[in-house]
Amino acid sequence: MRSQREPQQHQQPSVLLLPLPLQGPINCFLKLAHLLSLSSDHLNITFLNAAFVHQRLPDLPSRFPRVKFSLFSDGISGDDPRPPAKFASMVSFYEAEVIRSLPEFLKSPAPATCLIADGVFTAVGERAMELGIPVVYFSTLSPCCIWASCFFVPKLFDSGEVPFKKGKDLNEPISDIPGVEGTALRWCDLPGICRTQDITNPYIQLVLEECRKLPKAQGHILNTFDDLEGTLLDKLRSLCPNLYTIGPVHLHSRTRQPESEQRVTSNSLWQEDRSCITWLDAQPSESVIFVSFGSVVPLTMDQLIEFWYGLVNSGTRFLWVRRPDSLVGIEDSEDSSLQVPTELLKGTRDRGFIVKWVPQEEVLAHGAVGGFLTHSGWNSTLESIVEGVPMLCWPNGIDQLVISRFVGDVWKIGIDMKDICDRVVIEVMVRDLMEGRRNEFSQRANRLSKSAAQAVREGGSSWLALHRLIEDIKFMRFEVPNDT
Ligand code: UDP
Repeated sequence: MRSQREPQQHQQPSVLLLPLPLQGPINCFLKLAHLLSLSSDHLNITFLNAAFVHQRLPDLPSRFPRVKFSLFSDGISGDDPRPPAKFASMVSFYEAEVIRSLPEFLKSPAPATCLIADGVFTAVGERAMELGIPVVYFSTLSPCCIWASCFFVPKLFDSGEVPFKKGKDLNEPISDIPGVEGTALRWCDLPGICRTQDITNPYIQLVLEECRKLPKAQGHILNTFDDLEGTLLDKLRSLCPNLYTIGPVHLHSRTRQPESEQRVTSNSLWQEDRSCITWLDAQPSESVIFVSFGSVVPLTMDQLIEFWYGLVNSGTRFLWVRRPDSLVGIEDSEDSSLQVPTELLKGTRDRGFIVKWVPQEEVLAHGAVGGFLTHSGWNSTLESIVEGVPMLCWPNGIDQLVISRFVGDVWKIGIDMKDICDRVVIEVMVRDLMEGRRNEFSQRANRLSKSAAQAVREGGSSWLALHRLIEDIKFMRFEVPNDT
């Protein structure tokens, strides 16, 4: 069946990019915008951006001269990055704004011929398809979570398996759900929404809606590379046949830059503190564990202290990102106001460095970094894989619970510390990562790093997938079925 809106003769392809306005997705979509803008002068690119993100990244128009930016409000005032509690209301306000404007993008001189939207925006996707605009979702979550979410998570909600019954042993392997057999997953490894006790929560409903509607699009971009995913992509293809595995997008974008310009460009919503690079320069090779829990995960004061003791007692050098807004219920997170035990302050002076935000890709690529204590966000995980850095995983929710299991038991490039936040365990596991099991993890991590580099090189799997995506956009090969 053909699209409702046939491309007019000599119509120029025009793509709309719609990221979720959070640090990880913004980063991915900007890398994609860069890759698309290198592809052809005859491709119009419009980046639908949240006004607060644009305020925080004022250099975007000069860094992306070929991209047009179109701004939308998310209904929240100020330009501070948005707290997780506001996520669901922010998404629904934002998507209503975008939906209202969609018809504008069908007007001449360059009517939209394709929408690439974050997978969370299925309502925008549906409206675009009704208007005859083909939709490709770019779910910046990990494919292992997308697979779990599309294949069996909604069924677990429908059958009442979720919310989990009191006393259920979440460490048991899952064996009795079709599609899960033979995987390494346990109940505790399922996507974060499975841990809810309240299925009426708007965020849970938003994610379930996304799981059900994702397969309807004309294509799906995944931030991964074929060699990493093995047979999982075949499973996903049985649901979403037109997959473009173009990742890791940050490496892909970096590799396509001319050699003289191959520096990491920052899309950070927080101010980067580059003093950490000077500190790393003074540390021995692979001696430092880098600690960061991403842009969203909160820490309680108790968790902060457990991590701090674990790190100091391990005797390992550490570089720790502590976002100023990351401590639950605490406004002033300066150490002087927190009444931290003196042995922690001394241990930090001796072997540690704490900053508010770092240029993470650069930190992970630094020769002094030998391990990464991470919340297992997908971007952080890919950035670590690209640099061959083994991980100690402390996942918090969303896709992180699935990813950490894959890191520990499928790719075997680190340790999954899931659900434990105890100073003794942290101390032992940091030592394991940095000393005891260092060689076994490093060897596998380095192999994956090489394979990621191969994937984005000319002729590699991600390079070919990107080429196909660009050709499909340029020659307007997507078709919206009439019955959508
Ligand atoms: N990041 C950074 N500096 C920091 C901490 C994080 O640039 O100090 C970046 C990191 O490189 C990654 C993103 O923030 O690209 C976090 O994305 P991820 O998917 O790992 O986690 P999220 O923040 O979405 O939970």
